[in-house]
Amino acid sequence: MNYHRFKYQKADLFYLGLPGVYIFKSQSKKVLYVGRADNDLHKRVGQTLSEKKELKKNTAWIGYRYVKSPKEGYLLECERYHKYKPHHNKRHPEKLFNRWKCPVCKN
Ligand SMILES: [Zn+2]
Repeated sequence: MNYHRFKYQKADLFYLGLPGVYIFKSQSKKVLYVGRADNDLHKRVGQTLSEKKELKKNTAWIGYRYVKSPKEGYLLECERYHKYKPHHNKRHPEKLFNRWKCPVCKN
């Protein structure tokens, strides 16, 4: 497994504890899973890896992006969820607040 995109970079230390969106890909760059962290991106990615053993086994690459707010993260997560329909995402991304609307399916 290759985590080179997920290693802390020096600049990342300024962003610890921030929300973000992450994406897990296989060796052939197929998107396996997309996720969001509302308050700590690195912690959430670590949790996902320890909870989802099969996903971890198949993951070769993890990309991530910080966002300014949980809502911005939700919108980005929804776009990617609908675009890639990842095998390991069993459900639609969850909302933190009911007033949020998915930009794709409008739910
Ligand atoms: Zn949707």
